[in-house]
Amino acid sequence: MRTPVQDYLKKMLDVARPNISGSRASYIPELRDATPDLLGMAICTIDGNIYSAGDDQEMFTIQSISKPFMYALALKDRGLDTVMETVGTEPSGEDFNELSLEGDTNRPMNPMINAGAIAVNQLINGEESTTEDRIALILEFMSDLAGRELEIDHGLCESEFAGADRNLSLAHMLRSYGIINDTAHDAVFSYVQQCSILVNVRDLAVMGATLANGGVQPRTGKQVLKPEICRQVQSVMVSAGMYNGAGQWLFDVGIPAKSGVSGGILGTLPGQLGIATFSPRLDSKGNSVRGVRVFEQLSKDMGLHLMATEPFGGDALREITSDGYTTTIHVQGTLNFSAAEELLWEVLPRELPNERIIVDLTEVRRARVAGSRILLDGITALEESGADVAVYDPHFVLKTHEREDGTDIEIVDNLPVR
Ligand code: GLN
Repeated sequence: MRTPVQDYLKKMLDVARPNISGSRASYIPELRDATPDLLGMAICTIDGNIYSAGDDQEMFTIQSISKPFMYALALKDRGLDTVMETVGTEPSGEDFNELSLEGDTNRPMNPMINAGAIAVNQLINGEESTTEDRIALILEFMSDLAGRELEIDHGLCESEFAGADRNLSLAHMLRSYGIINDTAHDAVFSYVQQCSILVNVRDLAVMGATLANGGVQPRTGKQVLKPEICRQVQSVMVSAGMYNGAGQWLFDVGIPAKSGVSGGILGTLPGQLGIATFSPRLDSKGNSVRGVRVFEQLSKDMGLHLMATEPFGGDALREITSDGYTTTIHVQGTLNFSAAEELLWEVLPRELPNERIIVDLTEVRRARVAGSRILLDGITALEESGADVAVYDPHFVLKTHEREDGTDIEIVDNLPVR
């Protein structure tokens, strides 16, 4: 059955289609010869629902959109300290292939520019790894994110490598400062392979949704990354993912993103969506012209800008009931910091009719760590004022059952019969 979301994506593409400005990347022969009019997009929700439109089956090389994922893999494989010694987290404000390093540390400024990405690639599977083993691990990881086996376009890889003077000079620069150990040849060959992984917009949307979903691949259910790594990666995408267009992008679109020279753009909306577009013509900053247009429209129409969040919390208290023996506090919605604070603000000053109190979480589907903590502190406050409090948590949403003093709160299996 057709869904309105599907029709909506089609409309987005129609808005962007007339724009034929920009040009294909010319320094890689296959990209120079790509069909310029291709246009496709896909979104994947954190529940794993995919919607796509246009040229959604067209395969293209992932190029620089591999960079946030390789940064994630390096963090997973080598840990934050090692990664931070190798690459920074500051936007460079320069072109993606600029020959530049951070003044005081000699690290590349961030993992989204080529200098940083070549250095990050070398961390994966350890500096001593062969290129083959490193690429095998990379492909396995990327396939886990996509939920299917991905492949490398070896023809494109070879032809990019044949003209990779710029990236070779970056690798020589990194070697001269001891940031990488491998030969410039091997380091760039490894990096170019990572860029030559073939995907379509549906794959990218799922991979992005995994970052947005705290590392759980929404279709396979596999925990591919830890939530804190997803947070770190998306933070760098916000500040540096769109190269020297990053500030304007944040202003206009407000979605963590990464673009690639083959014409793809990946966006991630934390806690909600992965979004991918593909259209080969690029603007002067190396970002897909129509892709940028689609994201701008999508962000505006759907209110997806990160800085334009709707008020959180509110109405966490559904009602308070009493059967003469027990007072039941019925809670609803998502229990985050603001919702839990508001709940306690409403409940604590009241004179509750009975000593026995049940906190009913039937209508709460998600609780964050801060919300759980605040609720438990509120329960402790009620207990200190003489009440006997228990929680009914049928969906197991609470992140903790432990009071500040280390003892557990009481959990009940049923609500009092009303
Ligand atoms: N493989 C490309 C390069 O290194 C990736 C660049 C990009 O997508 N911006 O030049």
